[in-house]
This record gives sequence, structure tokens and C-alpha cells, in this order.
Amino acid sequence: MTNEIFNETLSETEVAVRDTLRRFAEDVMRPIGKELDTMSPDDVIARDSILWEAHRKFADLGVGTFAEDGSLDPVEAARLGALSSEMLGWGDSGLAISLGVSNMPITLAQMSGNPALIEKYTTDKVGCWAITEPNHGSDLVDFGGSETEGQDARRGDCFAKKDGDNIIIQGQKSSWVSNGTIAEMAALYCAYEDEGGVKGGGVFVVPLDVDGVTKGKPTNKVGQRPLNQGEIFFDDVVIPADHMIAGPDQYNAVLEMTLTGANGGMGSLFCGLARAALEHAVDYAKERVQGGKPIIQHQAVKSRLFEMFRKVEAARALNLRVVTRNAVNPSLELAIASKVTSTRTAMEVATEALSIYGGAGITKENPIEKLMRDASVSVIEDGENTLLGLIAADRL
Ligand SMILES: Cc1cc2nc3c(=O)[nH]c(=O)nc-3n(C[C@H](O)[C@H](O)[C@H](O)COP(=O)(O)OP(=O)(O)OC[C@H]3O[C@@H](n4cnc5c(N)ncnc54)[C@H](O)[C@@H]3O)c2cc1C
Repeated sequence: MTNEIFNETLSETEVAVRDTLRRFAEDVMRPIGKELDTMSPDDVIARDSILWEAHRKFADLGVGTFAEDGSLDPVEAARLGALSSEMLGWGDSGLAISLGVSNMPITLAQMSGNPALIEKYTTDKVGCWAITEPNHGSDLVDFGGSETEGQDARRGDCFAKKDGDNIIIQGQKSSWVSNGTIAEMAALYCAYEDEGGVKGGGVFVVPLDVDGVTKGKPTNKVGQRPLNQGEIFFDDVVIPADHMIAGPDQYNAVLEMTLTGANGGMGSLFCGLARAALEHAVDYAKERVQGGKPIIQHQAVKSRLFEMFRKVEAARALNLRVVTRNAVNPSLELAIASKVTSTRTAMEVATEALSIYGGAGITKENPIEKLMRDASVSVIEDGENTLLGLIAADRL
């Protein structure tokens, strides 16, 4: 790498995590991500797929537990989280999201404080976040109804209903659910009605090995191909009532917290992708000779590389400010500012890197075209950027 991730002074723990994750990103994520990118969506999730090697080796690292032993204060934990996500995004963004989103049901179980849920939903299972629906994408992200017609516009393809000691789930989630085709547990956000007829949103931890759950086919898509995505169908699925983490009263607050964390995390992750594209472009520009000298010595190429560098460092600085501030005083609009900045930067820098590679940029031998495809997907993920901007603007 041409530059160190996080140039500022790092603590001993941060150095240890960075070095561990850099090795993992370089030796495991990049080669596995490159191979999965060429495979069909069905082969990506096959039993003998190398996808499982990435999941297994990541679990073996045990990095997910660094911040959870109580030894770090919230700001230190947030810095470590940003550094980790950036490093994983530098490795392979699709795989990074598959590994990261897996923990969402576990986070909900821990939020519940219920020891039975905490014991049952653990890192040995693959998880997912099932919120968007075929007819409700932006509508469900826009939880406050900034741009929608109010709550009714968001009630749709998936419902949960209280029935005595149980909750019954009926309907489906969209083909965009990350890890949807392989998940064994879901963080389910959907419409809910209690026995008294009170309607609103509900948040649930749902085991996906129960009667009535089926999965769609993995989605075939342009970028982040190592990340499988697919529908989950619920046909009168019965779960115990204690699997409900939030009801109509708390739904918006929990979703706001979820989106704030997710957008901050995406901000870190796509700084990693942008940085990878910049580094490849700098390395290539030092090697490629045209006009009798390495192209980096041509002034126009130099100034294009500087623009890329400037954007990457600005995105990283904003992200670090946002996630450390949000650790003590969360702000969704700041998290959105970081997500939008990082994903736009990733797209712009990867596109310019491809151009700096010239014809070599469009070949499958070089990493740039994949980075550009991966970045193109990021501007829609966790809320399409324009819609996210509208939600943030409404809060100014
Ligand atoms: C790679 C990837 C990973 C994802 N992972 C998950 C996941 O793990 N779980 C999950 O549940 N979902 C996931 N999603 C779904 C994602 O959250 C949605 O795709 C996104 O919210 C947009 O919804 P949509 O695709 O239905 O687009 P639509 O909502 O149909 O939007 C289409 C266009 O219309 C615009 N638009 C829509 N409504 C408005 C409005 N009211 N005002 C102005 N403009 C509007 C949007 O900005 C957009 O440009 C993922 C998506 C991607 C691409």
C-alpha cells in the first residue's frame, strides 16, 4: 500500500486490529472476492463455495469482540469500528457487507437484555437485516415519512400480528436483503398489529429455520457480487412474543438508531474502497510509461491523482468525525452526510482510476473495473443517496 490506513497516531489495540485485518483483507478477502465476482449467484452460495472460507476465517480472527469486552470507551470503540470497516472495505466491499450485516440479529438480541435470546442468537449463525419489500424500498427507509404519504404508504408486503404468546408473520421481504439467501436468523423490521388493533412498525429477531420460511433465488447483479442478496418469504411463521424487540412506540427510534449506525458504517467501508482505487491508480501510474516517462510524471495525471487523494482524505476525515461524535451524541443527518460522501467518493475515484489505467482499466485482469462496479451499487445500498439526503435535509 502506498499509505497507511489512519495516518494519525494509533493505539496499540488499533495497530493490532489494523494489521490483522490488513492481512485478512489482502490474503483472504481480495482473492476470494475476485473469484466470487466471476461466479454465478447460485455458485456463490453453494455448499462448497469459497464464500464460506471467508466467513470461517473472519470468525476465527475474533475481531468482532474487540470492542465488546468493555475495555474501550464509546469513542475508542467507534474509532476501532471505523478502522475495521475501512480495512474490510479496502479488501472487498461485498464480502465486508456480508460479514458485517450478519451481526444485526445479534445486536437486537443484546438490546433486548433477554438472556435466552442472547444465548440463542450468536456469531456461529449467518444473519441478515430484512426491512425493504418489493413495493416498499425507499418508503421503509424514510421511516419518519419525510417524503412519503405517511404511515399507510409504508404498510405493505410483510405483516406481523400478536396472537397470545406468539407473533405470526406473513408476507415477504425484497430481493435486496443482503445475506437473504443464506441467513439463519433475521433482524426483521415490518408492519405490526397488536391484539388491541394498535398498528405501527415492529422489530423482531426471527429464526429462519422454522416452518413457513422460504428463500428466493440469489439476485444476479452488476456489483458486490460476492454479497448474495435475496427474498425471504414468511407463510404464517410463528415466533415467541419475546422475540419482539420493539413495537409501534419504539419503532421509529430503533430504526433511526439502526440507520444511523448503518450509514456511519457504510461511510467507513466505502472510504476503504475509494482508498483501494486510489492506491491502485498511483501504483499503476508509476509503472506505466507513455511519452517516454511514467505517466505519473505527466502533470495532468498528477493533478487527477491529487483530486482523487483530496476526495478520499476528505471522506475519511468526515467519517471519523461522524462516527466518533455519533458514539456519544448520535445524529442521523451526520451519518447520512458521511454515507453519501463516501459512496460518491468511491464511485468518482474508482471511475477516475479506471480512466488512469487507460484500456487496461476495463480488463478483468486488473482490479479497477470490479471496484467501479462495486461502488456503483453502494449509492443505493442502505437507502438511495438522494432519498437519504431528503431525510437528512428534513432534520436540519
Ligand atoms: C447492495 C444493496 C444491499 C442492500 N441490502 C439490503 C438489506 O440488507 N436489507 C434490506 O432490507 N434491503 C437492502 N437493500 C435495499 C435498499 O435499501 C433499497 O434498494 C433502497 O432503499 C432503495 O429502494 P428501492 O430499490 O426499492 O428503490 P425505490 O424506493 O423504488 O426508489 C427508486 C428511485 O426513486 C427515488 N425515490 C423513491 N421514493 C422517493 C421519494 N419519496 N422522494 C424522492 N425520491 C424518491 C429513489 O431515491 C430512487 O432513486 C440493499 C440494496 C442494495 C443495492
